Amino acid sequence: MSDNHVDFEAVPAAHRWTASLVDLGKALRKEAFAKKGLGWAWYVLPRGAMVAMMARDDMRRVLRISRRIAPTTPEGWVKWRSEVGVFRKHLDCDLWAPAVGDASPLDPNLPPQELFIERHADEVAKPKCNRCGAPVSDAGLYKEDLCVACAKEAGDRESARLRAMAAAASAGNTSATDPTSKRSTPPGTSDTQGSLGLT
Ligand SMILES: [Zn+2]
Repeated sequence: MSDNHVDFEAVPAAHRWTASLVDLGKALRKEAFAKKGLGWAWYVLPRGAMVAMMARDDMRRVLRISRRIAPTTPEGWVKWRSEVGVFRKHLDCDLWAPAVGDASPLDPNLPPQELFIERHADEVAKPKCNRCGAPVSDAGLYKEDLCVACAKEAGDRESARLRAMAAAASAGNTSATDPTSKRSTPPGTSDTQGSLGLT
């Protein structure tokens, strides 16, 4: 007896995939082009999902992730969604475009099947600077995406703001601590000593 899914056991050994998903992504990319015009290259994983890839006439590859039988519970569908996400990431297809017209999310009774179409590197939207729209290389580094110039400007402005706050605070101290008693002292001297704690 084995713990493998019945759909895994049902396919020829040559179509059962037991190595890593990363290697599966590489194998499918090659096989999709090798089989171009002859349909899908495909494998079934031990837990029953089928992962397939084909090359279209325009040389873009299409990834298909499917199961033979639909999940029967809401939790089952949630699990399916997360399974698809994990597959795309490890197959290195997470930037491929979801294909429109996939019926599975609309009809829970159909076996789930999701298609993703290859996008070339220059088609993938690059993160842009929130302020000026220039491309950003270190997206996600700061709380908003900024190009180098805008990040520097924001940094300068922030330190200027902090300096202004510090100056305002010490000016506030002066007027608060220096109302009447030291009227005769030259401005600045006593305040300096006061803020340094020298009085
Ligand atoms: Zn910018």
